[in-house]
Amino acid sequence: MRLVLLGAPGSGKGTQAAMLKAALKVPHISTGDLLRAAVKAGTPLGLKAKAVMEAGKLVSDDIVLGMLEERITQPDADGGFILDGYPRNVAQCEALERLLARIGQPLDIAVKLKVPSELIVDRIAGRAAAEGRKDDTPETVRERLRVYAEQTAPVAEHFGTIGRLRIVDGVGDVDAVFKRILAALPGELTGA
Ligand code: AMP
Repeated sequence: MRLVLLGAPGSGKGTQAAMLKAALKVPHISTGDLLRAAVKAGTPLGLKAKAVMEAGKLVSDDIVLGMLEERITQPDADGGFILDGYPRNVAQCEALERLLARIGQPLDIAVKLKVPSELIVDRIAGRAAAEGRKDDTPETVRERLRVYAEQTAPVAEHFGTIGRLRIVDGVGDVDAVFKRILAALPGELTGA
């Protein structure tokens, strides 16, 4: 199963991706996690990305694509993957299509978690308290939501146009949302 999970910051993508990883037995590839690891390790790339992430803006397409390619071509992703946090704009969408065509791993489906913005703000406030992410401050969250609406929302439209989009209601407890996602996936890929 080669799956892209879409949704606003705080829509529950990361939580659901971790659950899907266990159920589908494919790696969860989060570009946010890859970037946070680079920042923590203090690599040159991490140093470049840090301030951009803390401002709630998008890290440059080249940097993220390079990191993604390095990760997605590792052998554990041969049988598929769950992509979380990528693509974030239309240029990344096109780059992803080219990359997947080149490695012979075309995407099966994109799932968008739909959560109303009032709930998003509450959820991120909860996560800020629990995880202490530097980009979960109210000001940065506002910017991340703005970037999402402006640059990332069109990505879902693109997958819709090519007939590869499923929209799932992301409101409710994590298990209920998880069941909805599984039900929305193509049956021949989940063995259902
Ligand atoms: P996330 O964990 O997906 O919410 O990502 C946290 C931050 O990492 C984002 O606000 C961006 O600054 C950066 N980031 C993650 N994925 C991407 C991407 N695909 N393109 C550009 N920046 C990204």
